[in-house]
Amino acid sequence: MGQVRETMLVENDERRALREAVGKLVGSYGRSYFQDVTRRGVPPEELWREMGAAGFLGVHLPEAYGGGGGGLVDLALVIEETASQGCPMFMLVISPAIAGSLLAAHATEDMKQEWLPGICEGTKKVAFAITEPDAGTNTHNITTTAHPDISGDGGGWKLRGQKYWTSGIDEADAVLVVARGPEADERGRHKLSLFLVPTDSPGLSFQKIDAALQIPENQFTTFFDDVPVTPDMLIGAEGDGLKQVFAGLNPERVTAAAQANGIARYALERAARYASERSVWGAPIGTHQAIAHPMAKAYVEVQLARLMTFHAAELTDSGGDAAEASTVAKYAAGEAVVNALDHAIQTHGGNGLSNEYGLSDLWFTARMFRTAPVSKEMVLNHVAQHSLGLPKSY
Ligand SMILES: Cc1cc2nc3c(=O)[nH]c(=O)nc-3n(C[C@H](O)[C@H](O)[C@H](O)COP(=O)(O)OP(=O)(O)OC[C@H]3O[C@@H](n4cnc5c(N)ncnc54)[C@H](O)[C@@H]3O)c2cc1C
Repeated sequence: MGQVRETMLVENDERRALREAVGKLVGSYGRSYFQDVTRRGVPPEELWREMGAAGFLGVHLPEAYGGGGGGLVDLALVIEETASQGCPMFMLVISPAIAGSLLAAHATEDMKQEWLPGICEGTKKVAFAITEPDAGTNTHNITTTAHPDISGDGGGWKLRGQKYWTSGIDEADAVLVVARGPEADERGRHKLSLFLVPTDSPGLSFQKIDAALQIPENQFTTFFDDVPVTPDMLIGAEGDGLKQVFAGLNPERVTAAAQANGIARYALERAARYASERSVWGAPIGTHQAIAHPMAKAYVEVQLARLMTFHAAELTDSGGDAAEASTVAKYAAGEAVVNALDHAIQTHGGNGLSNEYGLSDLWFTARMFRTAPVSKEMVLNHVAQHSLGLPKSY
């Protein structure tokens, strides 16, 4: 009674075994462990290291650097399954998904040797800083600038500016920073470059944002006060940063969608069980269609979001253009998780608002997927323009 069936996805034995192994490991920690580290304000380090040792963190990265040689489908599966156990770890989306994918695609051989094995085994983490207080969604407006360093003869730059909502920079060893060049082109646009900057660099500091999310990772405003950056910290070519960032964008959207889907599965599982067990008028509350139908609808929405998410991951892995699919998957998952969690809380009555039941403290995490990593409005702009051929609206 009250079980959520899992028959929708076409998965081979290897993927099913991976799903099971992740579920078993993360389930042995469980929601109460995650709530405990969140309350204590510490990263879930033991779980992170065990996931690294089991090969889950680098499942999508090349074997030559300690990875599993799989693809985005495998990582999406790991992230969905982790969240479905009530442990949605943001750092999975940031370090292995964005940074790992981007470094594997564009870093120099030395940089790959230095960073990828640590990302895979869980001993190194990399944060990501693109968002700025005054630029918002419009990346062309960022003002963090890489000024050529004329003080020595080694070349390089000094980074000056400010980022915000940099998740997990306090626990990261380095941060990927998108910065502009000092000179604008004839259209008034500055070329962007991407740098991998150690978090203990002189001039780099960060200040915690008082955020509503109840997760172990903290968010920060990050300050770059003439941070020295040597040429070996540049990823790809100078001025070509946007192209490198794109290598991290699809993985970010797909894995964020997978995380949202995992939270939704967790919420539905709890709701279905509770609705089968709780009796108020002599029959389980799941008997009432006011409880059953919204739950069934949420299940349908979540399954559709999952199908789109894994489809987007497959497209990425096959080298196809996955921009539209990743964006649509993120939208669908962001809507589905909010509806699923809302109804799971409602199904639990007053208990839905007790932390003991592990639902309401997920609210702002679920709600975030409507805003980040890309807002629903920007997704709809993309769809209107690129999928429907409507005039660009912004
Ligand atoms: C918990 C959390 C973690 C995050 N982690 C990171 C991170 O690790 N690294 C990082 O770089 N960033 C991170 N972000 C930032 C996140 O990616 C941005 O908040 C998000 O992309 C929205 O940008 P913004 O906040 O600047 O909103 P704005 O761009 O200021 O937009 C405000 C509102 O206006 C709407 N809007 C803007 N332009 C248009 C338009 N043209 N048409 C219609 N509507 C529009 C938006 O959709 C939004 O609803 C994080 C954010 C959160 C909340």
